[in-house]
Amino acid sequence: MSAFPPTLAAAHARIAAVRPADYARSRNALGGAASRLSPYITHGFVSLPEVLAGVAAQHRLDPQHKFVYELGWRAYFRHVWQHRGDAILQSLHAGPLPEDAYARALPADIRQARSGLPVIDQAVRTLYATGYLHNHARMWLASYVVHLRKVHWRAGADWMLAHLLDGDLASNHLSWQWVAGTGSQKPYLFNAGNVARYAPADWHSPGSVIDQSYAALDAIARRAAPVPAQPADDGVDEPALSSQPPDAAMPMAEDVAGRDVWLIHPWALGAPPADLPAGCLLLGWWPAECHAAWPWSAARWRFVGARMAALATRQWQGDRQALAQALAAARSVQTLADPHVGPLLPPQVRQRPPQPLFAEPDRPCASFSAWWLRSTRGLQALQDLPGLAAQRAD
Ligand SMILES: Cc1cc2nc3c(=O)[nH]c(=O)nc-3n(C[C@H](O)[C@H](O)[C@H](O)COP(=O)(O)OP(=O)(O)OC[C@H]3O[C@@H](n4cnc5c(N)ncnc54)[C@H](O)[C@@H]3O)c2cc1C
Repeated sequence: MSAFPPTLAAAHARIAAVRPADYARSRNALGGAASRLSPYITHGFVSLPEVLAGVAAQHRLDPQHKFVYELGWRAYFRHVWQHRGDAILQSLHAGPLPEDAYARALPADIRQARSGLPVIDQAVRTLYATGYLHNHARMWLASYVVHLRKVHWRAGADWMLAHLLDGDLASNHLSWQWVAGTGSQKPYLFNAGNVARYAPADWHSPGSVIDQSYAALDAIARRAAPVPAQPADDGVDEPALSSQPPDAAMPMAEDVAGRDVWLIHPWALGAPPADLPAGCLLLGWWPAECHAAWPWSAARWRFVGARMAALATRQWQGDRQALAQALAAARSVQTLADPHVGPLLPPQVRQRPPQPLFAEPDRPCASFSAWWLRSTRGLQALQDLPGLAAQRAD
């Protein structure tokens, strides 16, 4: 059975299981107390204010606590996406090497978990088997791909996004840029000692190309030649990707006409708002343009599809034009605003903004530290965060 049941109960159980003190102490270790909430957060089963309110109901937390800070990273990446739009899909600034020093395709030995480097092959196997990777494993994988094998971060980011249950354009692509040094001031590098400290024994890679000093690894990152690969013979097949929901293309329900509609999309899988009009139709929509651009693994389709099926009375896949035609006769249409779908929605759809957890700075912030400073300035207590204050008012 998947470690990520696609239910609200599972999301709430994970919130209840967060132990902030253990988290702060052990989150960097692969076996540490990470919450594994990310698939539920990415797909909107639960919002950041709901997560933090649930944790804070059980534990006393300071606004500067490590768990709050990490939630901040997600909010910050969304802030960058909001301000930069599709520019996040390109390098934000120059990295250690010119763009054309990097290959545009991910080599087969990495895709098939047979690079010969245990830390990388274990990470790829885990990704395919579970749809989840610990943050440290994501950083190691991205760093190896970009700085040692000289593959452009974008190729790695697109591949990883497709296989993660929590694949999120902002968190994923901007994290890859952070590792690559195109969204941060220096490349992120790791060595065998770092792996030995934080990962189980079968990930350790002594005597390999990463068993070097940070100065030597930095020199590798700044020269154009990739490290020679020593692929193993045995690997795993990369899971197939698809742009089609499992039960694709259900016809549009004719009974939309004259109805109030709550439009459920793949990033809005939380409980519908309590104040919807009586008799409101819960219409599930698979936005065709998004799925064509960003295909998913079968595991991701199952995860999202099961929750969509549990929520929506009807489901439908369609592009921007078809959606506009289909909804034209509805009495009213509302949905949860999200940058994935915003540009595809016809003007009559009322987009409800999600409740932010943190105060939104009045100007774009170019670094996490600048964003964090502004978003938490003057905060005396955790309960003063806007998202928690709003939860209390509900
Ligand atoms: C190369 C790379 C790719 C990544 N791709 C994604 C992605 O596609 N989707 C995604 O949600 N996160 C991504 N992350 C960020 C981070 O790795 C995951 O959010 C985290 O590992 C999820 O596990 P968790 O829920 O157990 O996290 P926890 O440590 O328990 O943190 C709780 C929540 O805080 C947020 N969070 C924690 N750390 C980060 C972080 N560094 N950046 C942004 N948000 C964070 C997440 O919403 C997470 O669910 C990526 C990081 C890297 C280095």
